Amino acid sequence: MKYFDSYRHKGLRKKLVEIVKSKGISDEKILQAILKIPRHYFLDDAFSEWAYKDVAFPIDADQTISQPYTVAFQTQLLDVKPKEKILEIGTGSGYQAAVLVELGAKVYTIERQKKLFEKTNKFLNEIGYNTIRTFFGDGYLGLPRFAPFDKIIITAGASEIPKELLKQLKVGGIMVIPYGNGDVKDMIKLVKIDEKNIRREKHGKFRFVPFKTGVEDK
Ligand code: SAH
Repeated sequence: MKYFDSYRHKGLRKKLVEIVKSKGISDEKILQAILKIPRHYFLDDAFSEWAYKDVAFPIDADQTISQPYTVAFQTQLLDVKPKEKILEIGTGSGYQAAVLVELGAKVYTIERQKKLFEKTNKFLNEIGYNTIRTFFGDGYLGLPRFAPFDKIIITAGASEIPKELLKQLKVGGIMVIPYGNGDVKDMIKLVKIDEKNIRREKHGKFRFVPFKTGVEDK
C-alpha cells in the first residue's frame, strides 16, 4: 500500500537516527526530524527497504536522494532557526526540503528537471508538505523575486560558487555548498559578513550529482 508508515518502519528510523548520531550529528531537532519523516515514501515502492540505510539512492531521472548523514550534516551547518526563509537548490526527492520544514523553516526549493519537479511537487502535497514552495528553474539564478534568504543550501556538487545566490543571501546569512573541481567536493560553509566580505569554512569531503546550468524540459 502506498504511504503506509508501520511500526517496523518507525523502528528502522530509530536505528537510522542512532547511526547518524554515531557519525557525529548532535542537533536533537535534526535527529527528531529524521525520526519523524517516513523516508520510505520518498523512494519508489520497490526500493523502500533501502530507505533506512545510511546511503544515497537513485531516484528518477538519474538523480539521487542524498544519504541521510549528508542531509543531516548540511542541515547542521545551516544552523536553521524557526521561521527562517531558506532556499534549497536541487529539490530531487524532496526529503531535504521536508527536513527543513520540520525545523520550522519557510522553504523555497528549485529543481531543473521538469519531470522530477512535477513528480516531487505532487508528492510533497500528497504527503502533507504543502507549505514547501517548489519551483522549476535553474538554481544558478536563485529566486530573485523572493530574495533575500536567511540561508541557502545547494544539494548538487558545484564547480563554481554562483554569485547570484550570494547576492540573494541576507547579511549574516549562511550558504552551504559542496564545491570543488573533481568528483569529490569540499563541503563549504559561507557566512555573509557584509555585502563585501564572506567568511569561508571547509567541512569535509562529499560526493554529489553535478550542479548543472540551464533546465531540462523533460
Ligand atoms: N535535495 C535532494 C537531493 C537531490 S540530488 C533530496 O533531498 O533528495 C540533486 C538535485 O539537484 C537533482 O535533482 C538535480 O536535478 C538538481 N540540480 C542540479 N543542478 C541544478 C540547478 N542548476 N538548479 C536546480 N536543480 C539542480
